[in-house]
Amino acid sequence: MSNIAFIGLGNMGGPMALNLIKAGHALRVFDLSPAALEAARAAGATVAASPAEAVQGAETVISMLPASQHVESLYLGADGLAAKIAPGTLVIDCSTIAPASSRKVAEAAQARGVVFIDAPVSGGTAGAAAGTLTFIVGGTANALERARPLLGAMGKNIFHAGGNGAGQVAKIANNMLLAIHMAGTAEALALGVANGLDPKVLSEIMVKSSGRNWSLELYNPWPGVQGDVPASRGYRGGFGSSLMLKDLGLAAEASIASGSPIPLGELARNLYGLHSRESGALDFSSIVNLYRAVP
Ligand code: NAD
Repeated sequence: MSNIAFIGLGNMGGPMALNLIKAGHALRVFDLSPAALEAARAAGATVAASPAEAVQGAETVISMLPASQHVESLYLGADGLAAKIAPGTLVIDCSTIAPASSRKVAEAAQARGVVFIDAPVSGGTAGAAAGTLTFIVGGTANALERARPLLGAMGKNIFHAGGNGAGQVAKIANNMLLAIHMAGTAEALALGVANGLDPKVLSEIMVKSSGRNWSLELYNPWPGVQGDVPASRGYRGGFGSSLMLKDLGLAAEASIASGSPIPLGELARNLYGLHSRESGALDFSSIVNLYRAVP
């Protein structure tokens, strides 16, 4: 059992925190949302009044926030946690953010003797709830070994991508591919339906054919094709389109920084840019609404 501060209890952080409580850890939590705090309190967490209060006495700090600016403002600056967390503490940031931001926070933490890893996740809200997430870690091998038991309580695959920031680079590449195959899946389903096919039948055919992919098989964007996915509950919950747009922006930045062209990634970024104007809060599989006549 260890004392853990958990900051950011949204669609992902909420169920991840619950799995740590189930594994017997003592959690002190903070979020800006009173409803999220209440749900964690009901599950046995102690609610802190501020991030600084949450990290007092913690052996490990875990954060799961939307984007770079949230993570930088939590840890850096005069009032940031990097200056408040006790030396020797392990910090695991699971948010998907810019590799440069992550390295900046890691350097500030490590300058004070705090151990920092980036550990962005894949597997969606279903994986977070089931404790089957994939963690993609950037940091030292020793820090990863220290984090492993906690990551194992929230996930089942743990990869060491490299040094600080490397987890973020791998996650950004993965999510660019995810956006591309989600948009491609939506496009193929809409083409079939517009030409008279049942989306369920078409999905069954493509899942056993060469178009098979994760979006089609496990996260089908067409309403009613699968039971427990965002498409069948009005695209509520899940992974917001605005968060996918953020990740595609990170891919664009990485492309410019390295001179590596991403024509399909840029196309997906523009699709999600248009879509997020109206539907940023809806799950990213709602991109299918760009292709179909929405009733
Ligand atoms: P979310 O918007 O549901 O949750 C974010 C939470 O952070 C909210 O509860 C919000 O109140 C809280 N928050 C924001 N600023 C805060 C602050 N300063 N202090 C404390 N709490 C603060 O987002 P999410 O879907 O849980 O995603 C979190 C991260 O995980 C993002 O970086 C996202 O890209 C990544 N991710 C999400 C999924 C998914 O399927 N949802 C999958 C993999 C990775």
